[in-house]
Amino acid sequence: MIRITDIIDKILDNDPDADVSLVDKAYIYSARVHDGQMRLSGEPYLTHPLEVAGILADMNLDCMSIAAGLLHDVIEDTHATPEEIGEMFGDDVRHIVDGVTKLSKLDGGSSEERHAESLRKMILAMADDIRVILVKLADRLHNMRTLKYHKKESKKREISQETLDIYAPLASRLGIYWIRKELENTAFMYLMPDEYERIRELTSKHSEEREHYIETVKSFIKAKMEEAELGCEVLGRYKHVYSIYQKMKKQHLEFENVYDIIAFRIILETKNARECYTAMALVHSLWRPIDTKTKMYIGKNAKQNGYESIHTTVIGPYGERIEIQIRTKDMDIVARSGIAAHWKYKEGKPADSHIREKFVWIHNLIENQKSIKDPKELLKNVRLDLLTEEISVFTPNGDVKTLPKGASPIDFAYLIHSEVGSQCTGAKVNGRMVPLRSELQNGDVVSIITSKGHHPSRDWLSFVKTVKAKNRIRQWIKAEDKARSISLGKEMCEKSFRKYRLNFNAVAKSEDMKDIFGQFGLKTIDDLLANVGYGKITPLQIIRKFLPSATEHPEHEAEPVSDKKPISGSGIVVTGVKDILLRFGKCCQPLPGDEITGYITLGQGVTVHRANCANLLQMNPERLVDVQWSQSEEAAYPVNIRIRSHDKVELMAELTRYIGKHGVNILKINAEVCPDNTVDATMTLVVRDADHLNRIISAIKNIKEIIEVIRLDS
Ligand code: MN
Repeated sequence: MIRITDIIDKILDNDPDADVSLVDKAYIYSARVHDGQMRLSGEPYLTHPLEVAGILADMNLDCMSIAAGLLHDVIEDTHATPEEIGEMFGDDVRHIVDGVTKLSKLDGGSSEERHAESLRKMILAMADDIRVILVKLADRLHNMRTLKYHKKESKKREISQETLDIYAPLASRLGIYWIRKELENTAFMYLMPDEYERIRELTSKHSEEREHYIETVKSFIKAKMEEAELGCEVLGRYKHVYSIYQKMKKQHLEFENVYDIIAFRIILETKNARECYTAMALVHSLWRPIDTKTKMYIGKNAKQNGYESIHTTVIGPYGERIEIQIRTKDMDIVARSGIAAHWKYKEGKPADSHIREKFVWIHNLIENQKSIKDPKELLKNVRLDLLTEEISVFTPNGDVKTLPKGASPIDFAYLIHSEVGSQCTGAKVNGRMVPLRSELQNGDVVSIITSKGHHPSRDWLSFVKTVKAKNRIRQWIKAEDKARSISLGKEMCEKSFRKYRLNFNAVAKSEDMKDIFGQFGLKTIDDLLANVGYGKITPLQIIRKFLPSATEHPEHEAEPVSDKKPISGSGIVVTGVKDILLRFGKCCQPLPGDEITGYITLGQGVTVHRANCANLLQMNPERLVDVQWSQSEEAAYPVNIRIRSHDKVELMAELTRYIGKHGVNILKINAEVCPDNTVDATMTLVVRDADHLNRIISAIKNIKEIIEVIRLDS
């Protein structure tokens, strides 16, 4: 059992000038108010706050946090009040203890709503004072260490699941990897005891052999470093059980096939970060590196949580993969306390102004979670934000930006500013233009090209990785959809009203109208129009409010509309409708040149079909609109064709080369050899228009083996 003197020793080891009187006072107070209480283990309750304070001292935290650790349960479990704590220990300590107490009330409960709520509270607490979360983490760590004393099996599982869902990701995000590992291992032990035991046993098997291996690798490294007069300590250890389990699961591997279960760490004595590169070069001169596996989180490339280290994987002395981390002593200290290492307080505020920048992500988290109502979605998003591996990229000015792995230039653009994101039209990576959907790599220099008035695109959603980008794009689409629906609804109403010799715009301004949208349960005329545009309300339903006897086919058809100019969009002109959301019928894949008809769909604008599309016959004629191809736009459209031919070696290769030569891209091929030795192939081609398609079809027909080429409806 840890004693207060041990804790004070730890504090003074880290900082000989620390004022430990606050810690002493907190200890005496805590001992007094918890007196007589017991833990489930049967030990005096005081052991718990002491252990928590010990963990906080291990994390290198300030005296206020450690005092708060000693006091973290007094408000909840004793007669102590926040006011009293404030008077005795100051506002900072009171604030931390208060924060931890509020979070404790949320503990337990296994529902996603509950977890989402805790997570939300924790994110807020984190922005308020990060030390609240650090004390909470230490509290959870000790509770996990003593979980065995819980009587109920279900309770153990519940707490373990919550630890895995919330606390381990938080520890990781805050850069306190040793706490993350211990939390994961312990939770794993309770949640999947058999798996845990099996892997643990496997790692201890042949332990003598492995110990020998570890010693061999260590001595190789040590000798090399000594040669270059680099003072260092070399550590070799097993990776934690849970990470081995995840590796096996993710890559479908048996234990025997998981190579890098032992990891090495070189801790350099020097304070000079550059020496890490020297050490890396030395290791690489010893063993060949796997280039793609080298990551240099140093200096400007440090992880967002401040973590610095080089990670490299090499082919070791027996042809095996070895993972090696290289860092200085200072970097190692940061790795123990994570984010907190940068968090020196002065009168309750972070002393370093750069600190704010380092924690931009916390504020991003808060901003992002505000707009998410669904707890499932929130859990998923925040976990995504917390867990995803990061890459560091640079602005042209050399500012470093951190993004999740797999992020695109669009994510980068939104990170710079929402405006930059939504007006992004292109991106340069390392000076070269790249597609917006390309994946950014560590170290890339990214510049974004914007143009005023440009808008986000729906398909960005299919590749962006950050929550911020996703939210912003969705927001825009929602607003845009509504605006489009309103304008579509207005056009539809104007058109229909005219058929009954009514002037919609005049009616819209009348007092009667207020009544009418009220009758539909709506608040504004725009809502009514949006509903018409979405197809939830038909214009006729509104007309009947004025002309109860109105039928679907008015006797007096209106004059053709002449004051409306066709407006183009995506290669299509919709008669009389402005700026409308268009999509192409998947059933018939219209091409420019084909005869086409538009159909107003429920909430998705207008779908364009070929005029002879069989599906059109089943659709509501009231919703059909005239559409034409516009001349101006250079575009590409997918179309399916079917090719039947005699079988021949390399037929497919020849066919694809041939089609390619005609400037046509192939999106998809499906080919099958039939029993009669003919080949039946369907392809999706990308063509400019119907003419283009016809040309390629006749070209294919010229190949000797081809029996038949037809355009498919779907
Ligand atoms: Mn506690």
